[in-house]
Amino acid sequence: EQAPVITIDGPSGVGKGTLCQLLADKLGWTLLDSGAIYRVLALAALHHDIDLAHEEALAQMATHLDVSFIPGEMGVKVVLEGEVVTQEIRTQECANAASKVAAFPRVREALLRRQRAFRAEPGLIADGRDMGTVVFPDAQAKIYMTASAEERARRRYLQLKDKGFDGSIDRLLAEIQERDHRDANRKVAPLKPAEDAFLIDTTEMSIDQVVESALNFVAQKL
Ligand code: C5P
Repeated sequence: EQAPVITIDGPSGVGKGTLCQLLADKLGWTLLDSGAIYRVLALAALHHDIDLAHEEALAQMATHLDVSFIPGEMGVKVVLEGEVVTQEIRTQECANAASKVAAFPRVREALLRRQRAFRAEPGLIADGRDMGTVVFPDAQAKIYMTASAEERARRRYLQLKDKGFDGSIDRLLAEIQERDHRDANRKVAPLKPAEDAFLIDTTEMSIDQVVESALNFVAQKL
């Protein structure tokens, strides 16, 4: 018997991270932020001057990637080849690079085992794009979150503004749409809900409402 898994998939900026963290805290389960793995790989490629279009080199790098995720008081610390990159992987540049490397089948294949290794008792909350469809098809509960691109850009804008960002909301919207398009149209593991996923459209919901809806669903499944 394998440990139970709850998968939470959806596009960027939909609030998966927040929901996953709350569920993980509430249940006392491990959290897998699969997007962070793609971001770290992209960063490693940038550091080592690997061409983001070179599938074989990227797949090799994915197989041997020296990364650790260290849980702590302040959230998870991400260490790549001995260097703390927790902040660095959160840039827009890194997100865009991640969505490029993530489009290669051999890269995704090389990261499968690494992601599945996070599955451990008492359970795992898996955050990503293909957690319910590819990585954990046998998950006990699958959730797929959506929200309009405009609403996601608005939320992202408010978040960034708090940190002193003075860019435009239109620019954020354009970046979100570009990344959505790439993630939804790639040949392998495109962004889409698993057939047995519970859909939550958060466009007009508060965080509390989203959490309540997710908890109700999960309670029926576990
Ligand atoms: O979720 P996050 O924005 O950190 O993910 C960064 C990028 O990594 C996504 O835009 C997507 O291209 C890729 N990704 C993926 N599969 C996942 C998680 C992330 O392809 N399970």
